[in-house]
Amino acid sequence: MSKKSRRWDGEPETEKDRKFFDLREFGYKGWIDEDSNKAACPFCHQMDCSRQGFAGKCT
Ligand SMILES: [Zn+2]
Repeated sequence: MSKKSRRWDGEPETEKDRKFFDLREFGYKGWIDEDSNKAACPFCHQMDCSRQGFAGKCT
């Protein structure tokens, strides 16, 4: 493998890791579920909520 891992631990990326990092590199800042799919905000249940994690407010 020649592609550098984007994981914090340097281990090879799994399919889920690849999807997760691809979303982030495309500029997606919303929620991502455990399968690395775009997910609705768990607080307001909107897909386009830009709340960052558990801190902050829904927009
Ligand atoms: Zn929200």
